[in-house]
Amino acid sequence: MEIINSVSEMQQRMLAARAQGKTISFVPTMGFLHQGHLSLLHEGRGRGDLLVLSIFVNPTQFGPNEDFDSYPRDLQRDLDLAQTTGVDIVFTPDASQMYPSGSATTVSVAELTSNLCGASRPGHFDGVTTVVNKLFNIVLPHVALFGMKDFQQLAVIRKMVVDLNMPVEVVGMPIVREADGLAMSSRNSYLSADLRQQGLALIAAVRAACGAAAAGETDAQQLIAQVEQIIIAQSDARIDYIQICHDLTLQDMTLVDEHAVLLLAVKFGATRLIDNHYLLQPVVS
Ligand code: AMP
Repeated sequence: MEIINSVSEMQQRMLAARAQGKTISFVPTMGFLHQGHLSLLHEGRGRGDLLVLSIFVNPTQFGPNEDFDSYPRDLQRDLDLAQTTGVDIVFTPDASQMYPSGSATTVSVAELTSNLCGASRPGHFDGVTTVVNKLFNIVLPHVALFGMKDFQQLAVIRKMVVDLNMPVEVVGMPIVREADGLAMSSRNSYLSADLRQQGLALIAAVRAACGAAAAGETDAQQLIAQVEQIIIAQSDARIDYIQICHDLTLQDMTLVDEHAVLLLAVKFGATRLIDNHYLLQPVVS
């Protein structure tokens, strides 16, 4: 497994691979890998000759009062996991490589970013689309894999790729959960045992809402009210948003149909957890 830190070296390496006719699959991450990341890597392994993993905690997608400094990092552990998952190249640039002084260009997707996390984290998606655009230009992937855990991020990246005619196939992968249903996240490592227990309200709420929708409830407000009751029963929960949105437009829906996705963001103490589920699809875990 190769480990490359330099942007120019990485780009040269990928240009050479393309010149040899290799297909490149790419999984961008912020590291502190868990089974969710590994599911993307497993899928990516089967979709290209070369599997590239990037590990970069991207400063521009964190707000001033967010957790950039404390974001969990363990490069050696990540490299060991990458090796056992069949990664060919790990790209781990530092911030000065990615954003040399004088960088003045931002990639911004309108509309899809105005709701949900875009409303509560101003500037976040500009940071995401700018770094993903840069990573695509450096790694030159044929296929890139993203998790549905970050449902809005996946929609925004799909839109960017279409709007900018980027020759990259974007693959969305299902949410990987802990045995008790908590969606895996690097940020789960912040949670005390008590807050982690409270965080299970997210999957409990998802199950309740999907159950009610399956039983015929179509009124989004009724479903949101039911979800809210489950969340606020937790003493440390502070709701960021509970919304039911159309999967493609991310606009709020009043009546549930097969496009309806329940999306939640809730803070437990200082830790912000997100989750989502299609309301008319069965909850498997
Ligand atoms: P991150 O390192 O949190 O930026 O995530 C890197 C990629 O892994 C993103 O495409 C995420 O959506 C995806 N991902 C994170 N957690 C999960 C999960 N529990 N299941 C599936 N994909 C995930």
